Amino acid sequence: MRLLSALAALSLTTLGVVAAAPPATAQNQGSSTAVGYGGAVATVDATATAAGIEVLRRGGNAVDAAIAAAATLGVTEPFANGIGGGGFFVYYDARRRQVFTIDGRETGPATMTPTYFIDPATAKPYAFDEARVSGLSVGVPGTLATWEAAARQWGTRSLASALNRAARVADRGYRVDAEFRRQVTDNAAVFAQFDATRELYLPGGAPPALGATIRNPDLADTYRLIARRGTDVFYRGEVAADLLRTVRTPPVSAHPAAPWAYPIRPGVLTAADLARYRVRHPAPTRSDYRGLTVYGMSTPSSGGTAVGEALNILEASPLTSASTLDKLHHYLEASALAFADRGRYVGADTPQPVLRRLLSDSWARQRACAIDPHRALVKPVPPGPGCATAPADAAPDKGMSTTNLTVADRWGNVVEYTLTLEQFGGNGMVVPGRGFMLNNELTDFNFTGTQGDAADPNLPGPGKRPRSSMSPTIVLAGGKPYLAVGAPGGSTIITTVLQILLNRLELGMTLPQAVAAPRATQRNTAGIQAEPAFRTAYGPELTARGHVFGPDAPEIGAATAIEFTRDGAQVAVAEPVRRGSGSAAVVHPIG
Ligand code: GLU
Repeated sequence: MRLLSALAALSLTTLGVVAAAPPATAQNQGSSTAVGYGGAVATVDATATAAGIEVLRRGGNAVDAAIAAAATLGVTEPFANGIGGGGFFVYYDARRRQVFTIDGRETGPATMTPTYFIDPATAKPYAFDEARVSGLSVGVPGTLATWEAAARQWGTRSLASALNRAARVADRGYRVDAEFRRQVTDNAAVFAQFDATRELYLPGGAPPALGATIRNPDLADTYRLIARRGTDVFYRGEVAADLLRTVRTPPVSAHPAAPWAYPIRPGVLTAADLARYRVRHPAPTRSDYRGLTVYGMSTPSSGGTAVGEALNILEASPLTSASTLDKLHHYLEASALAFADRGRYVGADTPQPVLRRLLSDSWARQRACAIDPHRALVKPVPPGPGCATAPADAAPDKGMSTTNLTVADRWGNVVEYTLTLEQFGGNGMVVPGRGFMLNNELTDFNFTGTQGDAADPNLPGPGKRPRSSMSPTIVLAGGKPYLAVGAPGGSTIITTVLQILLNRLELGMTLPQAVAAPRATQRNTAGIQAEPAFRTAYGPELTARGHVFGPDAPEIGAATAIEFTRDGAQVAVAEPVRRGSGSAAVVHPIG
């Protein structure tokens, strides 16, 4: 049976989610699964989810609710996202029955060259942390421009209303939980270099206590200023001036509370770079998977092509009657092959015909031929075309931060939105007096070529956007939304989204199970990174097939997702455990 007709037979009961549904009377905002009607929101944070649900309740649409939730996350998850960062917004418009995207990726300065991250004194690339904690790593932020574009084109509420609401959260404050404290603790040496960051997040010189309240009146004022005067104040006005001053003369503390190993270098962004910033609207990537249509984010994200190519490779593999282990084996191999191609071919300037070729069934067929059902390929594998199996150079990897949200409304519109500062805490700098942190997104460029004699598509260049792994994904069945999913986690984002799709579509899991299940990521590196529970469950048998496991990861990703059932219900899912657990809610819970 084709997958699509199998899915059409599913109802809420057969989805197995009814038993997991929370009580009818609950608002569900503290739950990781919520089932019901009238709209749904899933984020990593209960306050942000509540903001989105309130907008839906008052008649706003999915775009309005997504912006409200994101503006709130800019307050309560300040290390993973904010108006100092960027992201990718994928939107299914129910009226037009079409998927649109916004590329709100940060952009490098017009003067950026391929040797941007090469130290002129040594002719060697900067150490990652040296590049990160500097003005050089900051790209022109795209988040605010994304919200503005989404609100103007598809929203029914003003951006100002979302900003004013989130400003109240910043004034009122929010509680420090274990995850927030961990993110500060991990970054304490970086945050200690800048007084504005230290005052906000290292009160008394140490990470805030569990349960303490963090207020951010500067951010509240910045949000209100933008609400009053529009986003021009950020890209051309006084916020732009403060942002540029911070980038060009980093506000390094006269008395840092901890030593830092590197000089903190100034950046070269200009007022013209900021004023020139525009979001883009690339057509979504599209791949057909066993009767479903999978839409994702095109370049400069590699998410859409990598997820789509890996799905195509899986589709070209004989999985129908395969065991769970066979399917996991193919998932790991397809992912490694797609990552090899991503490394060789995908960057901000990749021509459309190349992207189309990577997403074609013929490309997938000739890549799938590399997979031996009984024996893992030696990693790293070389890029296509062809199915040669000689090992190649592995792509470098860094980063595990970011945040993701999924929203649907009663009219059937859906938003999948991933946004970030790159590392947790971005480049470490809060813009003094403005309350938001700057991104370090430009370190997503490769500092030197990674492809041997071949060109590297992700080297810095003038006004270029760095390649991303963010993979906001919307899956349609019969032309209607069936699943929306996305995740944080650097390049593991691609494999987290892929694995959740595999779990749901191939391994018979419900969506809450698919999100909760232990993860493993094979990004064309010598070893698979896996959560301990995955290794316990499948490690011995996969090792027997030749797979190599690298060091375990305590956790991979913190996804959110929504499934749309045949009955018209929405199953909103956030993480039950990872990153301190997320929050899913619906407007009218079933019960
Ligand atoms: N900068 C990463 C990207 O765009 C996301 C950051 C992360 O999740 O670590 O792919």
